[in-house]
Order: sequence, then C-alpha cells, then structure tokens
Amino acid sequence: MTVYLDANATDVLRDEARLAMLEALSLGGNPSSVHGPGRVARRALEEARDRMGRYCGVGPEQVVFTSGGTEANMLAIHALTQGDGLPGGTTRRPLIGATEHDAVRMARPDAVILPVLADGTLCLDALEKALADGVPALVCCMAANNETGIIHPMQEIAALCARHGALLHVDAVQVAGRMALPRGSVTSLALSGHKAGGIMGAGALILGAEGHITPLIRGGGQERGRRGGTPPLPAILGMMAALEASRQQDWREIARLRDKVDEAAVACGARVTGDRKAPRLPNTTSLILWGVPAQTQLMMLDLQGFAVSTGSACSSGKVSASHVLQAMGLGEAAANAIRVSLPWNITEEQIDRFIEAYTSMALRLGAKAA
Ligand code: PLP
Repeated sequence: MTVYLDANATDVLRDEARLAMLEALSLGGNPSSVHGPGRVARRALEEARDRMGRYCGVGPEQVVFTSGGTEANMLAIHALTQGDGLPGGTTRRPLIGATEHDAVRMARPDAVILPVLADGTLCLDALEKALADGVPALVCCMAANNETGIIHPMQEIAALCARHGALLHVDAVQVAGRMALPRGSVTSLALSGHKAGGIMGAGALILGAEGHITPLIRGGGQERGRRGGTPPLPAILGMMAALEASRQQDWREIARLRDKVDEAAVACGARVTGDRKAPRLPNTTSLILWGVPAQTQLMMLDLQGFAVSTGSACSSGKVSASHVLQAMGLGEAAANAIRVSLPWNITEEQIDRFIEAYTSMALRLGAKAA
C-alpha cells in the first residue's frame, strides 16, 4: 500500500465528508428552484453558509462559495483591484508576495512582486517601502506556503496594511483545517475544500465585510450576484464536514511526526528548506538533498511506495525549478528539494517506514550536505 505524503496537493478524504456528501446526493433539487426539492437544497446550502461563517468568525453574507481555491483567489484579486464595493472603492495596485501560489500570481501578472527573506517569510521592510508611496494597494500574502509550509507574519502584515490604508487578501488554502485562520483586519480569505479533507470542486471566498463584488463568472445571479453558476452542493457540504472534523485533530501529533522526518533527514545530510527558522504548518516539510535531482528522489521513493512531490502539484507533470525556493535564494539547491506533506490520517509506523526509505536513498546517492 502506498504511503501518501502529498496532502498539500490534496488531503485524504475524511469519513465525515464522505458521509455528508452521500447524504447530499439524495437531496435532488437545485438550490435556485422554487419548488419543494429546490427549497430543501437551498436550505442545505444556506446552512452550509452559516456553518462556514461560524467556522471563519464572520456572518453568512460574507461567504461566497466557489469551485475551489484558485477561483476564490482570482475572484478576490479581480474584484479588489478594480475598486469594488468593499472599503475604499478605488482601483488598486496589486502587491504580491514572491512565494505566492500561481492561483494568485497569475491573477495579475503585472503585479509588483514583494521579496521574501531567506527564512521564507515576507520581507516586511520591502512591504513597508512599497506601501509608503501612498498609491492605493491590494496586498496578497498567503497564510502558509504550500511548498515549504512556512507561515507568514500575518499580524504584522495586516498592521502595515492598515497603517497605509491597503487592503489585504490572504490565500488561506493550506491553513484551513490545519491551523487557526487569520482574523482581524483581513479584507478577504481564500479557502479550498480538498486541502482540508473534502473533495475537489468546492472552496470559498470569505469577505471581511459584506459588500458587492463584481463576479468573475457571470450567470444566474447565484451567491448574491457575486458568483454565477449552480453551487456544487455535495462538495460544499463535504467541505464543511471536513473543516469541522479537522477541529478534533491533534495537530501537535502530526507536527511531532513531521519533526521526526526532519531530524532523520538532517542526520543523513539533508537540509530543511528555510532551516526551520520560521514557524511552519504542522504537516509540511521541504527537504533538500544536495546534488540529487528532485525528480530522481521522487521516482526512487515512488518505486518504494511513498508518494511525495517536487513542490507545487497544480499542473500535472510540470517539472520546473520552484519559484518559491528560488525566491528564498536557494539557487541550484532548489532543484534538489522534495516536499513531504503529511495527511491527517498518517501513522507513526508509516513515517518510520518513510524515514527508512529516505535514509537509505540519501546514503546510497552519497549526497553531500548543502
Ligand atoms: N493556493 C494554494 C496555496 C494552494 O496550495 C493551492 C493548490 O495547491 C491553491 C491555492 C489552489 O487551490 P485549488 O486546487 O482548490 O484551486
């Protein structure tokens, strides 16, 4: 049986989500229909919106369901840079962190890119400098990075944005279900169901205040005119069940297993990306085995039944040097890094087997420490 260690690409489906989706499949109606089955579906959708509001600490009117994290990010950046109804109402220049996911970077390829420090966190000096010219801005910073797990100092970033009148959009796709969501002066948050134990096809944009935003997808006026298209009700109910179940998880135990991997890797000459200087997601590590192409490591581990990744898994088969690790100044070492991201149901026995396989690979390939 494969040991799955690629939860940041998609996490293992939670039983609670499976059950909620099976029940939802019997609902039948379209939430926009006015007849009885439609009203039943509408009630289920609005209950899910209430639950999402409670989960995020906002009102249900601040929740816009989407098809996933990519759409939520795109919608937020599209709306907030063109001066939509939320605070300000003016067009805004996007300032985007250098290690953001493509779902954010591609929303505005003309954005100003903000550098990160060697530990992977956003450079606050550069942010302050970029904001100092007083041009209305939208800052986009992820809560935690999908390749390294590194957590950005969100309170400080939010305080800087507030001081300079900038809006702040946070890609919280990797933290939802694994850590507390950022609160306070955040303009919007993007979430994705399948990273938290739901299935692919549902996500949400959470707005810091209620307001009209221009839809990216026009259509039948669903989601209060903010996102056209019939909402994927079973996937939304699965996402909510998964997010709520994730609250029962002991993430310290997952972090302990992740730390065990780190220690074993360092002992056989590997380096942990960012050198563990900044806080990280409990389930994620990125390991550099100097001189050994990541693709070789991935294939060797795959042959032994361990599914890891070379970084972002969002376009299948893509093999290019990670922009995240390049931005951290890792140069050629960026091509030697694999990401190990533990699913919520990982066991110690599986981690011990992975450590054995990784150690024997590192020793066989005779890697030098970076
Ligand atoms: N943002 C981050 C940080 C991600 O890791 C991903 C997916 O890997 C996305 C956005 C895109 O989310 P989705 O797959 O739900 O479109």
